[in-house]
Formats: sequence, structure tokens, C-alpha cells
Amino acid sequence: MTEKVKNLIVGCGLSGMTAAAELAARGERVLIVDRREHIGGNIFDARDGQTGITVHRYGPHVFHTNDEKVWNYLSRFTDWHYFMYRVKALIDGREVNIPFNLDSLHRVFGRKTAETLEEKLVCRFGFNRRVPIGELKNADDADLRFLGQYVYEKVFAGYTAKQWGMSLAELDASVGERVPVYTGRDDRYFHDKYQAVPDRGYTAMSARMLDNPLIEVRLATDFRDVRGKISYERLFYSGAVDEYFDYEFGRLPYRSAEIVFVTRDCEYAQSGPQINYPENYDFTRSVEYKYYLDERSDKTVVSYEYPQAFAEGKNERFYPVPRAENEALYRHYADRAAALQNVYFFGRLGDYRYYNMDEAVRRALDLIEGVK
Ligand SMILES: Cc1cc2nc3c(=O)[nH]c(=O)nc-3n(C[C@H](O)[C@H](O)[C@H](O)COP(=O)(O)OP(=O)(O)OC[C@H]3O[C@@H](n4cnc5c(N)ncnc54)[C@H](O)[C@@H]3O)c2cc1C
Repeated sequence: MTEKVKNLIVGCGLSGMTAAAELAARGERVLIVDRREHIGGNIFDARDGQTGITVHRYGPHVFHTNDEKVWNYLSRFTDWHYFMYRVKALIDGREVNIPFNLDSLHRVFGRKTAETLEEKLVCRFGFNRRVPIGELKNADDADLRFLGQYVYEKVFAGYTAKQWGMSLAELDASVGERVPVYTGRDDRYFHDKYQAVPDRGYTAMSARMLDNPLIEVRLATDFRDVRGKISYERLFYSGAVDEYFDYEFGRLPYRSAEIVFVTRDCEYAQSGPQINYPENYDFTRSVEYKYYLDERSDKTVVSYEYPQAFAEGKNERFYPVPRAENEALYRHYADRAAALQNVYFFGRLGDYRYYNMDEAVRRALDLIEGVK
């Protein structure tokens, strides 16, 4: 016999959970399924059994937003550990602030060169401004052009080639031109008004979002296995849009990563939460998790991220690959999706778009608000 539900949500990530919480708040019943064995999708975190440190299984997550509505919305489900993210990159063997700023100049160049560049940057663009390197590379001053090229090569090119596994020429060219240099000493990675991590972790926040008697969660349940066995009035689908249509037009490419976690027998292993490696090694970044909630232990957990292509059954879809031909392929699926009745695609997989967490929440809130 076919099971009947009012709202079926596929995907128990941040997008699916926001939709579920909103529908339930309206008094509607929801069944949410996920093929994984845990809630939260890619924001899932858990305490490491050996050290007690909260580890983000799918890579480090810091919530940051200027969207007041989203901040207030998530604040209903969690208190926050306020946390300004700081990232360093190892360039020519030295740890340098990323985004590249005036202090970075003094880390990589001798005093005279650094002072000359600093003066030129501040005179030309003002103090504390964000200057895309495309602008530096095209400047009428040879020193500024040199700096633009230096940052492009040292900070961007190597990291990006590793991250995407292809030459820069094959990627959307505008990405490289937008890499910023800051003409100030603010070393924060993000500049949003709100920056934090849920104080008891993302999984605790997720559990609160789902804590409504109108929401039923079924884990280890793949939509492909229940398709046709559950009938619904509405389907909210935050899984991969190409998979929903059985790859009718071909597969949408994603980049993934193998994340290797290592426990080290020391209090701290690195100088901050994230170090990027544009030049050395096969991994792109190393991440030390105790920094995120300022947790204490005499040991520490660090992860190393090795980018690789997404392959079904082997790893997870992380990032849509930013190329015009992939966007064109996605458009075919988007047209098919738009023609369906009472089926709504959303989330980073449903929309084939990289969303930060705040954007994923906003997209789900707007979607549900628009559905009568
Ligand atoms: C490495 C990495 C680091 C990130 N760091 C940050 C950060 O620091 N700050 C930030 O704001 N954002 C960050 N993000 C983005 C953030 O992870 C996303 O915004 C968020 O996870 C999107 O949630 P989602 O629900 O759309 O997708 P997901 O979390 O991927 O959820 C989709 C869910 O659908 C399930 N699913 C798919 N197909 C099926 C099916 N057929 N049947 C059943 N279930 C299915 C999947 O198992 C998955 O759990 C990062 C992303 C990555 C990849």
C-alpha cells in the first residue's frame, strides 16, 4: 500500500531542515528523509570520542552573514559562540594573513619593498579598502602590477589548480580577478556583521530545528528507494537535481574532497584554525577543530583536505564546478524542474549552486513563504 504524506522533504541538511521547521510552524505535517545516517547534511558535527573535541565531518563550517532575518531565525535554535574567522596561507614557507593585507606585505617582502607597496596601495585606494587583484594587475604603476601578479600566483593560482584539478584557463576567468587585497590590517577572513558557531555545535542546532511533533525524520532512507511508495501533496527536493531526473541530460560535475582526520598528541598543532597551502603538499588546507568552540584538551584533532572529483558512492558532492558549460547543462534540468507541479527544488544540490549556510537558509525560507 502507498504511504501518504502531505509534505515530503528530501535531504535533512540545512535547506531541508529549514523547510521542515517552517512548514511545521504553520501546522503542517512533514516527512523528511535522508540517505545518510545522521541529520544536518554537510553541517553535521560530532564530538570526537578520544579528545572530546567537536569535529566537523564534512569540513570546517563558520556561520557568517549580514542577513539579519537569517541570523534571528537560526538564533531561535541555538545560542552562539562568537568567532571571527582568521585564515593563514603558507607562502614561501611563511604564514601570511589571508586575504592578503598590509601585514602580509611585511611578511613576504623586505622592509623597503613592503613600505613602498603599502604607501602606493593606501595612497591609491585609501586605507582599509578591498581591492580586487584584477584592478592591481591592470594598474598604470609597475609596483602595483607586480603585487597583483604576485598575489595571483602565490595565493590564488596554486590553490585553485589543486582545488579544482584543472588549469586556470579552464575555469571561469573572472574568479581569479576578484581575489582581494586589503589595504588595511584587519586580518579577519569574513567581514560580515554576524560571525559565529553554534555554541553546542551544528548537530545540536539541527536537532532543535527538527524538534516538532509534526516532523518525522527517516534517516538511511534514499529517495530513490521510496519513490513511488510514498505519495505526497508536495515534494521539496534538496538532493541533486540531475539525479532526480536520472541524469537525462548528463551528469552535473562536482568537486569533492577526501578529508583525513588526525589526532595529535600535543595541545595545539598549528597557529590558528585554518592554514592554506597554495604551493606545497597535495592537500589544500589543514584545519584544527578545537579553535572553533575554544575547546580544551591535551590532544588536538587536525584535518587535511585532499580535493578530488566527485564520484558516486566514493565521496560526497561538495562544490559545483564553476564553468559556463555546467551552468548551461544545469539550465536543461532547471527547465524540466520548473515544468513539474508541486515539486520544488532547492538547496545547494537542487539548485546546483554553492550556497553559504545563510544563503541556504534564506533560499528555504523564501521558498516556503512563497508556497501556499
Ligand atoms: C567543505 C565545505 C565547507 C563549507 N564551509 C562553510 C562555511 O564555513 N560557512 C558557510 O556558511 N557555508 C559553508 N559551506 C556550505 C554549507 O555546507 C551549505 O550551505 C549547507 O550545507 C547547504 O545545506 P543543504 O541542505 O543545501 O545541502 P546538504 O547539507 O548537502 O544537504 C543535502 C542532503 O540531501 C541528502 N540527499 C541527497 N540526495 C538524497 C536522496 N536521493 N535521498 C535522500 N537524501 C538525499 C544528502 O545526504 C544531504 O544530507 C561549506 C561547504 C563545504 C562543502
